[in-house]
Formats: sequence, C-alpha cells, structure tokens
Amino acid sequence: MDDTRGLNSWIELSESAYRQNLSLFRRRVGPKVELSAVVKGNAYGHGAVQIAGLAAAHGADSFCVHALEEAQQLRDAGFQQDVLLLGHVPRRRLGDVVAGDFRLVLFDVETARSFAEAARSQGRRGRVHLKLETGTHRQGLGGEDLGALLDTLGGLPDLEVEGAYTHFANVEDTTDHRYAHAQLERFRSALDRVREAGFAPTRRHAACSAAALVLGDSIFEMVRLGIGQYGHWSSKETLLSFRDRQDVEGTQSLRPVLTWKARISQVKTVPADAFVGYGCTYQTTRPTRLAILPVGYSDGYPRSVSNAGHVLIHGRRAPVRGRVCMNLILVDVTDIPGVAVEDVAVLIGTQGDQEVPAERVADWAGTIQYEILAGLGRHLPRFVVPETAVEGGSE
Ligand SMILES: *Cc1c(COP(=O)(O)O)cnc(C)c1O
Repeated sequence: MDDTRGLNSWIELSESAYRQNLSLFRRRVGPKVELSAVVKGNAYGHGAVQIAGLAAAHGADSFCVHALEEAQQLRDAGFQQDVLLLGHVPRRRLGDVVAGDFRLVLFDVETARSFAEAARSQGRRGRVHLKLETGTHRQGLGGEDLGALLDTLGGLPDLEVEGAYTHFANVEDTTDHRYAHAQLERFRSALDRVREAGFAPTRRHAACSAAALVLGDSIFEMVRLGIGQYGHWSSKETLLSFRDRQDVEGTQSLRPVLTWKARISQVKTVPADAFVGYGCTYQTTRPTRLAILPVGYSDGYPRSVSNAGHVLIHGRRAPVRGRVCMNLILVDVTDIPGVAVEDVAVLIGTQGDQEVPAERVADWAGTIQYEILAGLGRHLPRFVVPETAVEGGSE
C-alpha cells in the first residue's frame, strides 16, 4: 500500500473483505446470473475506480452507475465491462451514451426517440433497459405510459430492448416482505406485456442487495449489488430476515471493506471546567487531554455527531467533545496513555479489538450507513490494501 505518513486523513479498502463479500453474493445467485456492481455515489464513498478494480478482479460482471459522467470515468480508467446508467441522461448527451456503448435506463417516449436518433446517426444500436413501475413510484413507468412506450419502441429498430427492471420500495425496512412480493407480481405482469409487444429482454432484474439475500424469487438474469459488496447489511431487518432463512454461519460473512483514518494533529491538556469548541457545548469535569483530528464535516464526518460519538485511538474509544467543525474534531484521550501527535485514529472501521461501524456513526447522526459512506469526501485518498498485505499491520 502507498505510504500514508505524509497524509492527514485517508481511506483504506480491504481486498480480502471485498472478495469475501462478493463471493457470498455469487453463491447466492449462482454462476450464470450477471452480478452487476452498483458503484454510484463514488462507490458508496469507497472510490469508484478502486472498487471497480476489485469488482472486476473478484467476479462482478458489469457495473451500474447513476450518471453518464460516472460511466465515462469507468471507461477512462480502462474498464470495458457493460455499464448501466440508472439515472436520466440529458437528451443532448445521448450521443455519448451510444458512443460509450452504455446501457440506458428508459422510462419515457421522448428519450426513446432521441436515443434512437443518436444511435442511427452513429450507425449503431442503442441498448435500453426498461424501468417498470411496480410500486416504488420513483423513476419508472406502467399502465398506459408503458403501452405508449412499447408502441413507440416497435417503430425504433435502432434500439435494442436488452433489459427490463424494477426496484423494491420496501424490502430492507421490514422483515415482512408482502409488499415486495406484490411488486414482484406486478413486475411479472409488466414483463408479460413487454413480451406480448414483441420484445425479449435477456436481462430481467429486480434484486438489490437485500432482495438478493432474502427474496430468492427476485433473482432473474441480473442482480444489482450495492451495499452488500461493501460488507454492510442493508439494514438490521435484512440481517434478521437472512438469519431466519440461513444457517447462522452465513451471517458472519459480510465484512466491511472500508476503514477511515486520520492522524492526530495536536495533543493538549485543558483544565477542569474548561469549555471545548464552538458554542461552548462541552465543559470538562476534570483536567482533560484532548487530541485534535484534522477531519470534520467537510470530509464527511457529520456535525450531528458533536458530543455524541467516539473514534478509536490505540485501540480504545476516544469520545468526541464539543462541536464537529468543518475540518477539525476534538476527542478526549485522558484515559488513553501515550497518545502523541501523528498517531493514527480510526473514525470508521476497526482498530485493535474495537470497532466503529459505519452503522454506529449513522445512529449517532440520525441517518443510515448509506448516507455516511456516500458522504465521505471525494478528496480523501483511497488505497486498496491487497490480500497479500498483513491487514492492520502498519498501524
Ligand atoms: C442504489 C440502487 C441499487 C443498489 O441497492 P443496494 O441496497 O445498495 O444493494 C439497486 N438498484 C437501483 C435502481 C439503485 O438505485
């Protein structure tokens, strides 16, 4: 791994954890299903290019992103795999979708016409994946709108209906999967309509991570794997549902890929009764040793963790004191001996036998791990810790 001695803060990605997570999903879906790594949101904050490298090396077949720029970033980095664009592409940029041979989500007639036009003018075919509305009421189309789109597509030979998919509204927030099953029913009916209109998509897909784990029926020819590849359960409910269906051993096998570290920039002692940080929201009750860490909310450490969370230093918990600033936080190391400037603190991840999971930070911040991870600053350097390296060996 690259030398981190010159860095204030960085992110490490464990290759062995990533490989293990992906292999759990590969076992779930079997060898023939297209396992598509969802790397939107800078790969949920992990680093899109770094994760794409791990995904390609360890058995993912393709990628899903939100925006055209993300797809182009993958091509620029040398990835030749299929990339599905899950989000809208402005019509004037549809030529770039054709040129990159990306797969485009389709949920409206106008985009279909513009995309076909762009494909025709380049003498190529445009590949589309129809987004079918089944009860999430986000992007997607059903009812009469689906009929109109299918009619339009019938007259657009420059487009290939390669895929058709839907997305679940309520699979991770509950252990009751009736709503998801109802969506699956509607998906099957919508697929019938697609087939009756003369299209035969070879990639039908519905499953995200949670569905792949707990809703076996949702696995068609392709699975869109997001949070699970990074070693996180979609939710506590997903873990519980999975545990109900599987041997408990299976629940051991997701390991968080990411560790976020920072180097202490100052250590100092303040007297009892001193106020700490903006707004004087914390007052010491004894002479207190504070360590200052050069990270804050502009790096993705939520301000709502003020006076609420802890980081790990020397494998022990150091509570956050006072407000989280834009680029700094203050932590209490009074009870941790020998803390020195440039020692390494862990903000998310494991140090010694202590762990601060992203889920814990999310609890402190009143949100979910997805938001914490996706919010990690793009400027933070990201390094893959290869399998051959001794993990946690450096610091
Ligand atoms: C983000 C996203 C996924 C991945 O969901 P996870 O819960 O992270 O696995 C799958 N499909 C669509 C359409 C998405 O937007």
